[in-house]
This record gives sequence, structure tokens and C-alpha cells, in this order.
Amino acid sequence: MFDNLSTKLDKAFKNLKGQGSITEINVATTVKEIRRALIDADVNFKVAKEVTDEIKNKSLGQDILISVSPGQMLVKITQDELTSLMGGTQENIVLEGNPAVILIAGLQGSGKTTFTGKLASRLKKEGKSVMLAACDIYRPAAIDQLKVLGEQVGVEVYAEPENKNAVEIAQKAIAEAKAQNKKVVIVDTAGRLAVDEQMMNEIAAVKDAIQPSETLFVVDSMTGQDAVNTAKTFNDRLDFDGVVLTKLDGDTRGGAAISIRKVVEKPIKFISYGEKMDALDVFYPERMAQRVLGMGDVVSLVERAQQAFDEDEAKRINQKIRKNQFNFEDFLSQLAQIKKMGNLKDLVGMLPGVGKMMKDIDIDDDAFKPIEAIILSMTKEERENPELLDGSRRRRIAKGSGTTVQDVNKLLKQFNEMRKMMKTMNKLTGSRRGMGLSN
Ligand code: GDP
Repeated sequence: MFDNLSTKLDKAFKNLKGQGSITEINVATTVKEIRRALIDADVNFKVAKEVTDEIKNKSLGQDILISVSPGQMLVKITQDELTSLMGGTQENIVLEGNPAVILIAGLQGSGKTTFTGKLASRLKKEGKSVMLAACDIYRPAAIDQLKVLGEQVGVEVYAEPENKNAVEIAQKAIAEAKAQNKKVVIVDTAGRLAVDEQMMNEIAAVKDAIQPSETLFVVDSMTGQDAVNTAKTFNDRLDFDGVVLTKLDGDTRGGAAISIRKVVEKPIKFISYGEKMDALDVFYPERMAQRVLGMGDVVSLVERAQQAFDEDEAKRINQKIRKNQFNFEDFLSQLAQIKKMGNLKDLVGMLPGVGKMMKDIDIDDDAFKPIEAIILSMTKEERENPELLDGSRRRRIAKGSGTTVQDVNKLLKQFNEMRKMMKTMNKLTGSRRGMGLSN
């Protein structure tokens, strides 16, 4: 359902032909589709509404590029908006103090302990000496789990299975790390299945006592709406510095990232996407926006078209198609623009719908070369009036382009079919776009 967003948007814009810019009326249906898409991706309803209102305001009055469809254009505007909403740029964790202390908080099962192991492994790879502190005093299994992970990534774990005082364990772990000249201590704390007062008191006391330079709140991205409420409760009490989104290898689009950022106004710093110790990445707002929207390819297509396409030229060619005057000069100009947009296979792959179908077909970037050679061997007059191309002219062109008369005939046949198709399309719809660069 989600993958069809672009198709739906284009349908919503069906009646837009001939209009040069986005207006209040023509954008309404599309905005509704985008809102539904965001909610499907687990974005909180209220947040989705705020975002789409903003998108609507931003898109009003914007010129619609001829080389992409309005639906595609709106997807791009939406993605830019989502990216800036999630902070725009990537933010690192702060490691200050000797040792630097990182406190990990979150509900039981959110992926805290797994993340603690991953972060240790990552910091170790960066050349930092790390110690882990096992402060989950309620579940002996949690201590064992951390020990196993510590061993796996080659990092020492400080634990006192008999001690029921989390503050004390954390403090002793830090003292031990200092004695051993370790640079970073990561404190894994206890979580409950749901937020409760005692748990909040305990972790707040740990934070008070050890003054971490970074407090990270770990949250399961699959929990959707609940993720936002939990984040809010933890933030009210702990004033954490950053968020870790886990289980992004699951089938959520990760809309929680947007809601959490908007509601607690704290950056997401890491994403965790699997049980293996290296399945951890820093958070890039732009990539997440693409994921939430599920339309990354469309966005790059719009970007490339914005860069490569000469809008005046596109308009001119459009006019010619509409008047059934499309000729080989125009063909050549379109070829040049397509080539400017980059690798042909990538380009075709970006077109929604077409992409999947064509993915295994080998499209040769050189495929246009003989076509181009043939067209270049025509005189300007011939390019503008393909009807002039009789037998002797065709022979001359074949010779000049290093091809055969059959090749020239084939191209002319294809060209005539294309013109016929354009004519039919004009009759059916009144053509708005160029040579099929939009779906
Ligand atoms: P904690 O109770 O918060 O410490 O959570 P755990 O680290 O024990 O994780 C709970 C469960 O989720 C375990 O079975 C983990 O293997 C699993 N898990 C943690 N992170 C991820 C992740 O990014 N992806 C997947 N698929 N599973 C994860």
C-alpha cells in the first residue's frame, strides 16, 4: 500500500494539467495522501497533521517542474520537511570526563543491553578503552547477558550480582575504570515492562550520582505510538541527551523517529537494526526521512531533474509535442538532457513502477550511441523535417554514421511510432510532460 504513494499522488494530481503552480485546491487531496502515508509509517497523528500543514504551506505557489510530476515534487518537499524536522544533520554523542560516562535508559526489552554491547564495540573500534557497568539489579539474567556481550566484543564488564544498590555499582564501576585508565564507562540500567515510579526514581538517582556526559534513551521503533509516550516520560524525568531507535530491521517504517523528535525535541543519535554487534549506525535524518516516506528514489529523480533539466527547453519541447511537431532536433536535445541526468539504468530504476520491472534487464549506456550518430549525420533540415528522408538520403546517413540502412530504417520506424503515440496521447489527455520522464 505504501509503495504506491507516488501513484496515488499522481492520481490526486490528475486534474492539475495545464496549471503552472501548486494551489490550495489542487494540493488538498495530495496532502491527505501524504498524511495517511505518515500515519501508516507510525508517525503520531497529531504530528502527521502538523507536518502536512507545514508541507501544504511550503508547497503553495511553488512552480511545478515540467520534467517531474507534481506528485513527485510534493514527495520531495515532504522529504525535505521530514529531514529538517529530525534535526537536519547528524549529531554525535558527547564524551567528556575521565572516564567519560554514558548512561543507558529505557524499558525492558527495548534493546538496551544489546545496544550497550554494540556501542562498546563501536567505541573500541575507534580506539577507546571501554568498561561496561551492569546496573540491572533485578534480573540476574541481564547481568549474564551483558557479560556474554562484553566477552563477545572484548570489553570488560563490572558487575556485583549480590549488590542491590544500582547507584553504588555504577560509582564503583567508574572508580574501577579510572583505576584501570579506561576512557569510557557505559552504564546499563534496569528497565521495566512499563514505566513505573520506582524505576524512574532509581535511574534518576543513578544519573544524579554519576553525572554522565551523555544519557541515551533506548526505544523500540516497533512500539509505534507508545514510543512517544515512553520517551516523554523518560525525558521529563531524566532530561536525556539523545535517543537510540532499535529494531529498525523490523517492518516499521520508523515514523517513531519523527514523533519522538517533535515531541521531546531531543536528537536521535543511533539506530540499531539487528542482533549482531555491528548492526548499529549513527542516525542520518535524511536517510530516515527517505525510509519513512519510502520514496527515496523519487526524491533523487526530482533532485537530478532539478539540476539537469533546462525548464525552458522542457517547456519548448512540450509545446512541440502538443502541436505534433516533435522532430529529430528535439529528440537530440532530449537525449542530451537524459544523458546529463546520469547513468541510464539508474534513471530507469528510479521511475516508480518501471524500476522493479526493469531491474534485471541490462540497459547499456552506449545504447543511444548509434541513434545519436544517425541523427547527427542528418542535415539540420532533415532533422526538422524527417519526411525528407528518402532512400538516397538514408543511404548517405547510414554511411556517414557508420551504421547500415537497416539501422536507419529501424530508427525512422521507431520515431514515427513515437510520434504516432504522442499524437494519440495528445488526443486522449493533452500532453503535459516531456518524453515520458515522469511516470
Ligand atoms: P533490554 O531488556 O532493553 O536490555 O533489551 P535487550 O537488549 O535484551 O533486547 C531485547 C530483545 O530484542 C533481545 O532478544 C535482543 O536480541 C533483541 N534486539 C535488541 N536490539 C535489536 C535490534 O536492533 N533488532 C532486532 N531484530 N532485535 C533486537
